[in-house]
Amino acid sequence: MFNFELPRIMSIAEWRKQLKNGDASSLELVQDYIKRIREKDETLHSYLTLNFEAALKKAQKIDEDRSSGVQLPPLAGVPFAIKDNLCTSGVKTTCSSRMLANFVPPYESTVTERLWDAGGILLGKTNLDEFAMGSSTENSAFGATSNPWDISRVPGGSSGGSAAAVASGLCMASLGSDTGGSIRQPASFCGVVGMKPTYGRVSRWGLVAFASSLDQVGPFSSCVSDTAEVLQVISGYDSRDSTSLKVPVPNFLEQLPKSIEGMRIGLINQCFNQSGLSPEVKDATLAAANQLQSLGAELVEIDCPCFNDGIATYYVIAPSEASANLARYDGVKYGYRSDKVDNLASMTSFSRSEGFGSEVKRRILIGTYALSAGYVDAYYKKAQKVRTLIREDFQKAFNKADVLLTPTSPTTAFKAGCHDNNPLAMYLSDLLTIPANLAGLPAISLPCGFDQEGLPIGLQLIANVLDEKRLLQTAFQYEQAAAVMKNSPISDFIP
Ligand code: GLN
Repeated sequence: MFNFELPRIMSIAEWRKQLKNGDASSLELVQDYIKRIREKDETLHSYLTLNFEAALKKAQKIDEDRSSGVQLPPLAGVPFAIKDNLCTSGVKTTCSSRMLANFVPPYESTVTERLWDAGGILLGKTNLDEFAMGSSTENSAFGATSNPWDISRVPGGSSGGSAAAVASGLCMASLGSDTGGSIRQPASFCGVVGMKPTYGRVSRWGLVAFASSLDQVGPFSSCVSDTAEVLQVISGYDSRDSTSLKVPVPNFLEQLPKSIEGMRIGLINQCFNQSGLSPEVKDATLAAANQLQSLGAELVEIDCPCFNDGIATYYVIAPSEASANLARYDGVKYGYRSDKVDNLASMTSFSRSEGFGSEVKRRILIGTYALSAGYVDAYYKKAQKVRTLIREDFQKAFNKADVLLTPTSPTTAFKAGCHDNNPLAMYLSDLLTIPANLAGLPAISLPCGFDQEGLPIGLQLIANVLDEKRLLQTAFQYEQAAAVMKNSPISDFIP
């Protein structure tokens, strides 16, 4: 089914060993990735901007450091793809929008700075739904990305480029951002691991804002331990982000191998009674729960009565915040400016109508409406109250369970274009991921099976605030026991 032969998957730990022992060189690894991107990405379109020259230079430097005995940082030579809404100094950052088509940031986001300091290498910037609004990576001003499992289908979104790049071996790991599911849903559609950390665990400085109270940056990778390794590097307090949490960063890796004997896994009733939930997705998720049980975990049923109100709540709060955040694109300060300009008002209005795509405009209109004087109580304030109820549901749930389990998305990857005339149908694909954003909780998606057409199915695990360690441990134990991806095609691509 997979439309591309997969490279031999090498974990970051394995790569580190090879590099250290001199069995492989950083330069060769990067050259292999570049070759593969040149061959495969014309079809997939996961990358928007390539950074090959600088990548090769950095790889050479890493090889030199290794030969001269310099101690190498933890991610030395790991080739990354970065979602194109994270600012990279001197490298175009477009948010897949005409509005920022030529924007070259003069500064580096905190997360990417930490990756480069840890030895990571930027291969390029990846495609997304414009300003991260969407679930299919079709809302990109520069063309859609395809799903490597079946190129007639979407990779999910909004971080579809970052997910497809990992799935097809066009980078070792990548970063995305998750406001309502944009890391977990594409991870599930593309058969990779994707994680949204606790709100505030990872700095948002240099992430182009969509909905600031929900946005979080997180990793995509081909295995749970790689996700833990990347999270380790990008986590931690940042004085430049006022919502960054001043808490110690635990060692995420050390707990991975520990048994989950006695761990209470909560199955949220409301998730499994959805009319739109595909039976195959439901079965695979419940089978995953049983697998966890066989590892010694205890399964408990959980009620989250407000869980399904998440989507309606989100589609008031996220557009409201977006309408405020996107007000900065006025044709004056930076970004696109229309040339049909006679006065200040027409400059702003033409620049926005030409610079933004239709989904972004729709969100700005909804948000402006929800925040307007006559409606703010009925919509925005009401939504904030429901958000509190959802958070309280989770608090109660975590008295009974340590980790919650749901499908990541109600379906597997859908056909490109199938929701073109129905944005609401597209919104529903985030039904199961949005509540974790509203409550600020860490959550991960990892492969748990395949549907009849051979498309990957994602399992979502959600933990309490700052409990990433237990979340990753549970995911790792499941991954090792279930070995879902063991039949992935292996090609002759030896990094
Ligand atoms: N698909 C959701 C939306 O369109 C979530 C996007 C995201 O997480 N960035 O808003």
